[in-house]
Amino acid sequence: MASTGQKIAILTGAVLASTVAWVEAIAGGGVIGGGSPSRVPVTWMGSRHYTAGRGGRAPNLIVIHTIEGPKNASAAESTGRMFATSAREASAHYTVDSDSIVQSVDERNTGWHAPGANDRGIGIEHAGYAKQTAVEWDDPYNRAMLALSARLAADIADRWNIPTRRLSQAELLAGYSGFVSHDDVSRAYGKSNHWDPGPNFPWAAYLAQVDAARYSTGRYA
Ligand SMILES: [Zn+2]
Repeated sequence: MASTGQKIAILTGAVLASTVAWVEAIAGGGVIGGGSPSRVPVTWMGSRHYTAGRGGRAPNLIVIHTIEGPKNASAAESTGRMFATSAREASAHYTVDSDSIVQSVDERNTGWHAPGANDRGIGIEHAGYAKQTAVEWDDPYNRAMLALSARLAADIADRWNIPTRRLSQAELLAGYSGFVSHDDVSRAYGKSNHWDPGPNFPWAAYLAQVDAARYSTGRYA
């Protein structure tokens, strides 16, 4: 009986925590679940294309993308400018390059980046291409970009209580919370053929950096 009671108490605590996060997100002022990072600098540029709100649910996925464009110091700004001004119906919440982060959509709103999972996804675009080799992913530009992206993702994950783990197809389809690629979403829902960030994205190294930067572990720096 004692152990059953303990399990119920733990479960109730988890549900309460996510409810509090969502209520604070709606209120807009909470540290947990606000629409923008509090611990990494971002430049707000906005987007012409997004859907207001989340259909009453909190986001529980971080979706990793590549922009399919060149790696340079202004890649985040030029992609953000495209989301802000282009008639092309696309938007991700963030774009990261080697030295900056641009925000295009408030996290409390739905971006148009991964059909099938947009209502619960927060999209992070990265400069570069899905075709990159493992060696190319490990170049100085990408190391700087992924370190910056990991700090951003840690901030997002802490505010929305998203665990630092990559989901399997089954977990994604079952509604679990975690990290996925655009390719994972394309395969799970069959609404896109985008395969970014490609098979050589350094998932293990990236998620280790995210985990190390999480506030909830006390290791955020
Ligand atoms: Zn994508």
